[in-house]
Amino acid sequence: MSKILGIIGGGQLGMMITEAAKKMPDEISEIIVLDPTENCPAAQVGARQIIGDFKDKEAIIELANKSDIITYEIESGDSDVLKSVEDKAEINPSPETLKIIQDKFLQKSFLLENNIPVPEFIEIKNIEEVKTGLKKFGIPAMLKARRDAYDGRGNFKIDSEDKIQTAYDYFKGQPLLLEKFVPFTMEVSVIASRNTKGQIKTYPLVENIHKENILRETIAPARVSKNISEKAEKIAEKTMSVLKGAGIFGIEMFVTENDEVMINEIAPRVHNSGHHTLQSSETSQFEQHLRAILGMELGSTKLKHNSIMYNILGGDGFTGEYLPLEISESGVFLKMYGKKISKPLRKLGHVNIIGMNNESIHDLLNKLQILMPKTVIKSSN
Ligand code: ATP
Ligand code: MG
Repeated sequence: MSKILGIIGGGQLGMMITEAAKKMPDEISEIIVLDPTENCPAAQVGARQIIGDFKDKEAIIELANKSDIITYEIESGDSDVLKSVEDKAEINPSPETLKIIQDKFLQKSFLLENNIPVPEFIEIKNIEEVKTGLKKFGIPAMLKARRDAYDGRGNFKIDSEDKIQTAYDYFKGQPLLLEKFVPFTMEVSVIASRNTKGQIKTYPLVENIHKENILRETIAPARVSKNISEKAEKIAEKTMSVLKGAGIFGIEMFVTENDEVMINEIAPRVHNSGHHTLQSSETSQFEQHLRAILGMELGSTKLKHNSIMYNILGGDGFTGEYLPLEISESGVFLKMYGKKISKPLRKLGHVNIIGMNNESIHDLLNKLQILMPKTVIKSSN
């Protein structure tokens, strides 16, 4: 029987989940999103919208009453509220899984207990514990908020002793953890899926390039040795088998000089580093997420084409309406998210460049450099 899908969050991730859901009319008859912004990206592609905050209990109850199955594009939801509506709609990933993942300290403790490699870390309750931690880990070290971090905003790199107080004050009393700084040689990620019946599939390892803590480019597959990609994929599979959540999980990892691989963090949702799958893979991460939460057989995760994903971000020093972008080049797929207003570093869209004729990653990187200057966001004035 066809189901009504509820999504908490109707930004670009909710939008692309909605688009995938629309292609599965036998399984999903209707999509409703909860989002505070009127005519959010998901609503623009055919989802009905409840206008309300992601944490608004009444709005979540309304969504649960109207939906058969609920998922989310953000990890900051209130897991206790979600737990309380489980009798009204099935929620995936489950509130229990969300509760572990959304708290970086619980998440890392959970991974450590299961012998999955993570950077060394300790819980921080006061500034004295920061000082003790720095003695243990050395400087630099990362002070992090346990919850509600995104785009690096929940991190403070302590790179000298006189930054301790500033770093501690920056978080205004939020619960924290301190982490050893990892001098990684590359950031990589695995998009992993597990369906409600326990079937697990992972996508090939990809390489992620961040600037100012924001993902700029994803290169698929990652330019690493077989040893590293196998290690990373094994870590991802093990994580999925102990975590037991259903859906797509974005597992971010560090690769070190000595070819060690460790998890930086897990996102319990479709992930920016999986957008390339829209064109590069047999099954997109969005379709895979729906297959997973609906308990369907998972689709193939084979990479059909080498590819590069490039995020289109709002230009520096400009807030306002912007001109539409156009790229008409074969093998280049532009996806804009329908956000009216550009803000500095706001994610407005992405481009996937696909090696249709088995172009090498090197050729694709060249193509990217030729194309991208044309996609600078212009202001309307
Ligand atoms: P996002 O939402 O963008 O994934 P976030 O706010 O949850 O980010 P993290 O993923 O924890 O933050 O960290 C953001 C970036 O900071 C990482 O991608 C990495 O470049 C750097 N970083 C985080 N932790 C460490 C560490 N222990 N050692 C070195 N670099 C780190
Ligand atoms: Mg991260």
